[in-house]
Formats: sequence, structure tokens, C-alpha cells
Amino acid sequence: MLELCRHAVGAARSLGADYADARVMEIRNQHLATEDQRVSGVHDAESMGIGVRVIVAGAWGFSATSRLTRPDAERAVRQAVEIARSGAAARATRELHWADEPPHVAEYRTPVRKDPFAVPVEDKIGLLLEVNKRALGVKGVTKCYSHMHFRRQHRWLATSEGAAIESDVCTSTACCTATAVNGTTAKQRYLEATPCNIGYEHIEQTPFLEEAERVGAEAVEHLSAKSCPSGQKDLILLPSHLALTMHESIGHATELDRAIGMEESLAGSSFATPDQIGKLKYGSPMMNVVADNTLPVGCASMGFDDDAVECQRYDLVREGMLAGFMCSRDTAHAMDAARSNGSCRADSWGSIPIVRQSNFSLEPGEAPLTLEELIADTKDGILIDGMGSFSIDQKRYNFQFGGDCFWEIKNGKLAGMLKDVTYWAITTDFWGSLDAICDRRFWEPIGVMNCGKGDPMQIAQMSHCTAPARFRQINVGPANR
Ligand SMILES: [Zn+2]
Repeated sequence: MLELCRHAVGAARSLGADYADARVMEIRNQHLATEDQRVSGVHDAESMGIGVRVIVAGAWGFSATSRLTRPDAERAVRQAVEIARSGAAARATRELHWADEPPHVAEYRTPVRKDPFAVPVEDKIGLLLEVNKRALGVKGVTKCYSHMHFRRQHRWLATSEGAAIESDVCTSTACCTATAVNGTTAKQRYLEATPCNIGYEHIEQTPFLEEAERVGAEAVEHLSAKSCPSGQKDLILLPSHLALTMHESIGHATELDRAIGMEESLAGSSFATPDQIGKLKYGSPMMNVVADNTLPVGCASMGFDDDAVECQRYDLVREGMLAGFMCSRDTAHAMDAARSNGSCRADSWGSIPIVRQSNFSLEPGEAPLTLEELIADTKDGILIDGMGSFSIDQKRYNFQFGGDCFWEIKNGKLAGMLKDVTYWAITTDFWGSLDAICDRRFWEPIGVMNCGKGDPMQIAQMSHCTAPARFRQINVGPANR
């Protein structure tokens, strides 16, 4: 396939492209779902094609085809060049800058011990049905839905600069959700093998069978939980929950194309701008946020991005101050960077690469601190596990989050479950109130498989890593006021 990519790149150069890249992708998605004691979905689809991207007279052109022959690739090249020429003619003031990158010739492969696609569908469905059976065995549980999702992305990428990259990325996840109903009220609880770039061993290592009854029992307990109090509380957020707050209030806010107004179509821009690097107080001094697409299990780790830039580790926030943005080769200049940090990805062969969130991490606390010690140190608070609904404004500044499960903390002890908890804050106030993070032993990656961005929308995957962390005096109240 690299040969076909090189051929397309050569064709583009001969038509006058100053830069060209061609990317073949073979993507397989397998999704298995069970509802109660029946199979509710078996989906297994493959998609393969080539996307060609060119720069002509300072403008981008892109085209793609699912036909992997030389004449079809050449047709896509001609179309991409034509689109770039018409774009150049209509171009307004924005000048295209293209950051340098050495031409890498390399291969990258997700470390996989057990290929999830080689495990028989019957075995996977069997596990899901058994999980449902155990959860449904808990009195009061009326529904249980479980699913597994495996994704393989095999990519060949060649550029006119001489880069030749092959990557093979495998992602695995599974989730079980139990529902309890009482009259007109329904409450849920879920258990997830968080999305990771890893093989089926991830599913086997997650204690679904052992934990199914606990998940069911917590769904039932959730029904009769006390309502959320109103006021200001100290929040202890577990990684399974905090990952989403990080995604929305740090991740999208530090995408450079969004911050400079280049890509606002789907969900707006950002309150953070590159001129504020080193000046904007994002959070408390213990807030260190590091992007890392070299993290082996991270869902955004693929060796090299679709700009053919080597994946890297770099700062987004350092000691509470804004330190950088996630960028592409054509946006790096906007933060005076000589090199892109490798955060440009497309969700398929038919999509043009755009700036996407890297894996990134809230660095763990340096002093030894367990979750139990953190709870013991909290007088009046709420512990939140899992993701729920959320909303955030178009500048990523003013937000509200729910969660999956909540426990009251009174005088250093868990004091029963709460329901309908929401909290809201301004991004910089929220991160400014961060005052404790558990240490590295409790730090874990949480994957996101459904991040939407762009127009037409693309769906990307990435991971956010953290340990349990505490935020002081955050506004909380019941969702059902
Ligand atoms: Zn997103």
C-alpha cells in the first residue's frame, strides 16, 4: 500500500503540488451488544480507501476514493489539486505555514497480546450474556445492557518529503450498564473496561463477572439515594469521572485551531489563546497537564500523526499556568513553535486531518496519598464516579457536569449514596480550586471513543489520565430542581 501512496504523491507533484501526502487506511470496527438475555447487536464492518492531500499555491486540497488502483488514486489526486487551485483563487488573508519535520520512515504497532478479532464472537457474546444474567439476578434490577467494541486502524502514509509510515493500532473496550426502576424513576450504574489501545487481554483483566452483582446492587441503591444538597461542597473526583471534565474544559480549550478561530464549526472556540501562554492562570500551582501520544495504551497513540509528525510528550499547563496547545504542522506557527507537536489526525481515509486532542494527563501528586486518606481529610464533600451528562459553553469556560454515581462525605467518612448531583463552575475557578491529587499508584488512563469535531464531523479517540483529585468549595445542586 505504501507503493500506491508514493505513486499518488508523485502524481500530485507532477501536477504542481508543493506538498502532497497520501494515506491508505483499513479500518475494522466490531461492536457486540446484549440486552438482558438476548443479543441486541452484532456489527462487524471494514472500510478501506486512500485520501490524498495537497498544497498548491498556498491552499489545501483533499480528495479520497475507496478504489485502490493507480488510475483511481490519480483521479483523486487531480480532484485534490483542482480543489486546492480553486481554494487558492478564493483565498482570503490567512497564509499557509507548514512547520518542518524530518521525513520519518518507520512502523508503529499497538502492543497486543491477544487479538480481539481472533476471539470467537460466541465467546464474547457468552461473556456479555453472563454479565447481564448476574446483574439481573439482583432484586430490583430490571434491565442490563452490555457491549464490547474493538477497532483496528491499519494505516500507510507517504509524503512528498519522503516520509513512509505504517501503523497498526488496536483499541478495545467493554461496558455493562444495569438499570433499576421504581415507578417512574430509573437509575443506572455502569462498569467499564475503559477504551485503551490494547488487545483482548484488557477485557479478560476487567472483573466483569465478579463485579456484575455489585453494579446491579448500586443501581438499586441509587434509586433510594438521598437527593443532592445545594451549596458549596468539596468534590473528590475519580479518574472515571474527572477524565470527561478534563476533556471538555482542558482538551477542547487547548486545541490550537479552535483557539485561533480556524475551526469553530461544531462546538465553538476557546477562552485560552496563544498570546496567553505563560500568562493565563489556568488553575492552582499543583495543576500540571502533560499531553502524551507516546503513552502505549493511550487511544491517540499511533506513533506518528497524519501530518507524519512523530508523537511527542509536551506541556499544556505547568504549575497552573497555560503552557501550550495541541497543534498541527499548519497551526504550529500560531504559537511560535518551529515544530508541530503531532496532534493532527483524521478519523478515516475519507477525512482530512485536523487538530485533535492528544492523550493528556493531570500529573499525579508527588506526596504519597491514597483515596482513603483523601476522603478521611475531607469534612463536607461528595465523591463522584463515572461519566454522566454535561454542558459547556462555546468558549469552554462555563460548565455543568453530572456523573454516574455519587457518595456524600461527612467528617472524613462516606455517608451514603446521593442522586441527581450536578456541579457547575467557571473553568479557571474550578481548576484553581484543585488542592489535592492522589499519587502515581492511583493514576490511570480513561479512554474516550466518541469525540466529535469538525464540519463534516469527525469522531476521534484519545485518553485522559489522572489520579483521584479534590476540588474545594464547588457549587453543587440537584439536577431535578
Ligand atoms: Zn470531544
